[in-house]
Amino acid sequence: MREILFLKPVFKQMIWGGNRMASEYGYDIPGDNTGECWAISAHANGDGTICGGTYDGVNLSTLYKEHRELFGNSKEEVFPLLIKIIDAKADLSIQVHPDDAYANVNENGSLGKTECWYILDCDEDATIVIGHNAKDKAELRSMIEENRWDELISVRPIKKGDFFQIEPGTVHAIKAGTLILETQQSSDITYRLYDYGRLQNGKPRELHIEKSIDVIECPHRDRTAENKFDRAGDARVQTMVTCPFYTVKKICLKGEAELSMDGDYQLFSVIEGNGTVDGTPVKKGDHFILPTGYGVYKLSGEMELMTSFTRGEQ
Ligand code: ZN
Repeated sequence: MREILFLKPVFKQMIWGGNRMASEYGYDIPGDNTGECWAISAHANGDGTICGGTYDGVNLSTLYKEHRELFGNSKEEVFPLLIKIIDAKADLSIQVHPDDAYANVNENGSLGKTECWYILDCDEDATIVIGHNAKDKAELRSMIEENRWDELISVRPIKKGDFFQIEPGTVHAIKAGTLILETQQSSDITYRLYDYGRLQNGKPRELHIEKSIDVIECPHRDRTAENKFDRAGDARVQTMVTCPFYTVKKICLKGEAELSMDGDYQLFSVIEGNGTVDGTPVKKGDHFILPTGYGVYKLSGEMELMTSFTRGEQ
């Protein structure tokens, strides 16, 4: 099918959220604590809607269920990816996700979560939490029980354009003043390890200490991002990561480029500038899918896009 599937995002109010989705992306947000934009999502907790064209108004989950031919006749039961923009005005809790095997057994057959972050923008002195300093599970447990959070948590400086792959079992947190594009497995299973002692409506948010200790990788191992560059016309295409669940690339365009689709179907988010896709105008904040059979596509303009795809059946 030669039709671009544009998505209407779902927004989530969060105690740590801000209003940059409106100021930076022009979205019509529900309030000044909008923390997450579920930009391309078929997850039950925030199912996106197709905007315009043959399938106008249809939820992505329904489209995936009833028109699997648009998605390479994938055998995956649910749409496997979830693309979010996250606006952290305050620190997010420190958390960890299980892998598929642990989630399947302990979370009613849910998927685990591998995710990755592209830093869209951040304050000059912004930091992020990735990893921890415990050498084994015993030390991890005692540091948690003794509230030695500063010693345990690994904090590092970040800048715009940085990229992090967060494998299951990796302790992580987004900190205040950060705008992120997240590509992840379509899962909502998060174990909260530490919430800085904050209260919500007078009560601390639930922590999941035992499950966190179960799944945290000890000792932490850093993953280095891939840095493979290709050129196509006036576009520079950078492969950020390839893992069993997704490949993520960044396209920087100044002019025109003809590109061949990657994967059976491909997800795109315009993160900077504007231009056209085969003559259809797109701008910063737009999210779309090229379905199976779309083939070669022509980009023009001055813009940056993040794109992702799954490997499909092997
Ligand atoms: Zn996470």
